[in-house]
Amino acid sequence: MSDCIFCSIVAGDIPARTVHETDDVLAFLDANPLSRGHTLVIPKAHAKHLGDLDEDVAGALFAAVTELTPRVRAAVDADGANVGLNDGEAAGQEVPHAHVHIIPRFDGDGGAPLHAVGGERPDLSDDELDAVAEAIAE
Ligand code: AMP
Ligand code: ZN
Repeated sequence: MSDCIFCSIVAGDIPARTVHETDDVLAFLDANPLSRGHTLVIPKAHAKHLGDLDEDVAGALFAAVTELTPRVRAAVDADGANVGLNDGEAAGQEVPHAHVHIIPRFDGDGGAPLHAVGGERPDLSDDELDAVAEAIAE
């Protein structure tokens, strides 16, 4: 997509600090990092949502994330990492080209775990939980 900033990075029209590249996947440093080493891993083909990815591209993306997470951690001597993807505007997605964040974490860095991204926790009955599970499993 010509007006997509991450497609422009894939095309080489916008510079990025690339750390990993395969036929299907590109990884580069986040330009506005949440921590030292904050890395983005993207499919080269444009897709907004995780569920829009072809199965083989999704596999390549997760393989790259799996390979890169320990490399990123080691490169910045991190104590841990949060790995996540904002899927849709309601979840905080700003760039409409799917991307996985690898965010190195350091003891005492003052950040929060992924549990902190949700809003107020819902109080769901067993029936409601059963209905949700059924809807997902369908
Ligand atoms: P999200 O809110 O999940 O869509 O995150 C978008 C991320 O892309 C943010 O962390 C931005 O700092 C990052 N970002 C935006 N433009 C660029 C760019 N040109 N190069 C690298 N990272 C970028
Ligand atoms: Zn794109």
